[in-house]
Amino acid sequence: MKWIQQISEAIDHFIFPHTCLGCSSDLLKKEDLLCTSCFAQLPFTHFFNQSPNPIEKIFYGRLNLEHAAANLFFTKDSLLQQLMVQLKYRGNKDAGYYLGKLMGLSLQQSEYYQTIDAIIPLPLNAKKEFKRGYNQAQIISEGISIVWNKPILNHAVERLIFTETQTHENRIQRWKNMEGVFTVINEDAIKNKHILLVDDVVTTGATLESCGAEILKIDGTKLSIATVAYTL
Ligand SMILES: [Zn+2]
Repeated sequence: MKWIQQISEAIDHFIFPHTCLGCSSDLLKKEDLLCTSCFAQLPFTHFFNQSPNPIEKIFYGRLNLEHAAANLFFTKDSLLQQLMVQLKYRGNKDAGYYLGKLMGLSLQQSEYYQTIDAIIPLPLNAKKEFKRGYNQAQIISEGISIVWNKPILNHAVERLIFTETQTHENRIQRWKNMEGVFTVINEDAIKNKHILLVDDVVTTGATLESCGAEILKIDGTKLSIATVAYTL
């Protein structure tokens, strides 16, 4: 009967081709999105097991955080960049679930994040979310919760106004532009909770700071931050 199984696997592979997103080689059944050798190339930061770390230092004197970490180093023309492009510009949610699951494993194994009560994906502005069809931070958060069983609070915080990406402005201008962009619309949902704020990338931290500051205004909240990638 083995040949029946082989044929059915072949048909399955023909209908649902499982190829590595990094190198396009055929994936083994136990492999998920990336083959073993591409997976081995991913540059993990190990910041989830390190405190203080460079991500926590970004927020020193700006936000009173419990902990913060990014899971992977971001470099140009890397496999990680490929995965992020898939998630943000090619409508490939699986890339986001995958990156989220990797982060969920790092969170699960860390001694610093065990008191987290709930996850909040950093809200995207409405125009971008409409264009993309989803918020990538939401997809990453869903990936996290597949392996690390924490609730996601989707409508506790809202992003108010549309701000253009201010890539050419300095940190102070960016911070000013981000002021008042986020508002907590469900205080009861986050009151007295340790919240994990999730986004795809951290660079200057201006957007995360703006959103995090609003969360910390609510009674008894504690805040930690987790991002997939860290780019200088
Ligand atoms: Zn590969």
